[in-house]
Amino acid sequence: MPAFAYLDHNATSPLRPAAFDAMVEALRAGGNPSSVHGAGRRARAIVDKARREVASLVGARTTETIFTSGGTEANNLALAGAGRRRVLVSAIEHDSVRRAVPHAEVLPVDSEGILDLAALERALAASAEPALVSVMLANNETGVLQPVAEVVRLARTSGALIHCDGVQGAGKVRVDLQGLGVDYLSLSAHKIGGPTGVGALVVRSGVPYSPDRRGGGQESNRRAGTENVSGIAGFGAAATEVGVGLDVGVLRDRLELSLAQIAPEAKVFGVRAPRVCNTTCISMPAVLAETQVMALDLAGVCVSSGAACSSGKVQRSSVLEAMGVPVAEASCAIRISLGWNTNDTDIERLITAWQNLYIRVRKSDIFRTGSRARAA
Ligand code: PLP
Repeated sequence: MPAFAYLDHNATSPLRPAAFDAMVEALRAGGNPSSVHGAGRRARAIVDKARREVASLVGARTTETIFTSGGTEANNLALAGAGRRRVLVSAIEHDSVRRAVPHAEVLPVDSEGILDLAALERALAASAEPALVSVMLANNETGVLQPVAEVVRLARTSGALIHCDGVQGAGKVRVDLQGLGVDYLSLSAHKIGGPTGVGALVVRSGVPYSPDRRGGGQESNRRAGTENVSGIAGFGAAATEVGVGLDVGVLRDRLELSLAQIAPEAKVFGVRAPRVCNTTCISMPAVLAETQVMALDLAGVCVSSGAACSSGKVQRSSVLEAMGVPVAEASCAIRISLGWNTNDTDIERLITAWQNLYIRVRKSDIFRTGSRARAA
C-alpha cells in the first residue's frame, strides 16, 4: 500500500511524470532563453514549446500568454496591470486577489457560494467610473463554479474589464478564453500536476496591461526576469497531459454518498451548485477540522481543513463565512480534493479513516468540541 492517500490536490497536485521528465530535460539543457548562442536558443525553444502548450490548454494565443512565478503573481499582475482604480471582487476570492486590492468593493455570494449577479449589476450601475471585475472560475475550498459568462455579459455593458482567477478551474473544466470572454486569466502549474512556483497570466490581445516591475525585456517586456525554464517546461508538459480535464466525478460522488451514509448529519458545502468534479468541502458535526485533519493524517490520508492555512496556522474560512455558514459548522469543515492519480484505494482509505474517527467521536467525549467550536 502507498505511504498515504493524497487527497489535497487543490493545495498542490503531485507532479505528473511527464512534467518531471520535461523539467529534467530542461535542467540538463541549461542556457538562458535571452542568450543568442546555441544554448540560449535551446532554452528559448523549450519556453516557446511550453507557451504553445499552456496557451492551447485555455484556447489563448501564445502572444497572450505571460509566464509568472505562479497564480499569486498572475493575480497581482492582472489587478495592478489593468490600471483601473475601481475594482469589484467576489467575497470568495483567494487571498492573492483580496489582499492585492484591499480597497476593492466586495460582492456577496449566496448560501451555495455563487456570486450574486444582481449585486454585481447594482454595483456596476452605481458609478460611471469603469471598473475591473475579478471573479474566480472555481472556488478553491468548495469547488463551486462561478457564473463567469454572466459576469462578462453584465460587465461589458458598463465598459468594465474582467479578470478571472482560473487557478482552480483550468485542467478540471474546459476553459476557452474566447468562449469565456474575460480579459485576464490567471493560471498556476502546481494545481494541474506541474511544478510549484510557476504560472501564467493570459492577457487578451488589445486590453490594457502595464507590467509591475522593471528589469530585462523578458516575456515581450511584460514580465521582467529570467524565465524559470525548467518550471515552465514542466508546466507545459502538465498542460498537455490534462487533455479534456479531470475525470474523477464518479469517485467524488461515491465518496460523498459514503460519507453521508456514515454521518447523515454531515454537510457538503455548495452541493446544490455546479462544482468542479474533484472537490468536496464537508463538515463532520462537532469535530474540529484540525482534529479531523490530524486523525486522517495519522491514518495516512492527506486532506486539508476547509479554512485557509498558511505557515501552519489555520484561520477561519472567509469563503464559508461569506456563504453564511455558522461558525460552529465552518470550523468542522474539511476539504477533500481528488486529482489525476486518485484511485479507488485512496477513496476507500479515506472513507474507512473517516468512519473510524466518527465512531470514536460518538463513543467518547474526548474529541467532542461542540462548546469549543461554538465559541471559535
Ligand atoms: N488562486 C486560487 C483560487 C488558488 O487556489 C491559489 C492557490 O491555492 C492561488 C490563486 C495561488 O496560486 P499559487 O500557489 O500558484 O501562487
